[in-house]
Amino acid sequence: MVKSQNLLTEVESKALLKKAGIPVVEAKLARSKKEAISISNEMGFPVVLKVSSTEVVHKSDSGGVKLGLTNATQVGKAYSEILSSIKQAYPQAQIDGVSVQPMAAPGVEVIVGMSKDPQFGPVLMFGLGGILVEVLKDVSFRIVPVTARDAKAMIREIKGYPVLEGYRGQEPASIPALEKLIVKVSQFVEKNPQIRELDLNPIFAYPDKAVAVDARIILE
Ligand code: ADP
Ligand code: MG
Repeated sequence: MVKSQNLLTEVESKALLKKAGIPVVEAKLARSKKEAISISNEMGFPVVLKVSSTEVVHKSDSGGVKLGLTNATQVGKAYSEILSSIKQAYPQAQIDGVSVQPMAAPGVEVIVGMSKDPQFGPVLMFGLGGILVEVLKDVSFRIVPVTARDAKAMIREIKGYPVLEGYRGQEPASIPALEKLIVKVSQFVEKNPQIRELDLNPIFAYPDKAVAVDARIILE
């Protein structure tokens, strides 16, 4: 758990990113089961529910994420299950409710992150999502500000680059969309020095676009 005033929720983080022109799967906060169902009905199914708390950093680790919910009954059940697993894992945590968002189609999973280096200041990281980044540490870094040219190079630098080009029948990821997203994140970070850490993990990349499905911002 982190100090609650420093961690922005996914809903708050995505709202800031959206305002900065960074594509996100928009999430809405529901403070009750009833609200979660009515937001889902408005949004259209399938939806995803996630715990919303400034004290829960890794939502899925403790049963805080329910994917692919196709009707109101499933949403109601998911709401109760999320709350009870989180209360068990973090008995002290204050829970705002759940975020509701559309279930995104599968894409190539990539991540973009920002952390601050004591010498160089904000540094952006790019890599493929999932185990490739965790186990193989197949990532590239650039110091902010990251130009379009830097973004181009940092994407091509990772060993997993062929995966982005489309591998064994898998759809390719739009490299121009990823370059644009990285430059926008760099500009966002530059304009907001109060951001200590940022994580877009994962971003789903498609042949024509790239969208962040999860976002986390930590303030100084
Ligand atoms: P956390 O990283 O806090 O555990 P995430 O929001 O990243 O939680 O959700 C966990 C996983 O669920 C993601 O890595 C992604 O594969 C999947 N996921 C999350 N949100 C969506 C969404 N809107 N559409 C499709 N899949 C999603
Ligand atoms: Mg995540």
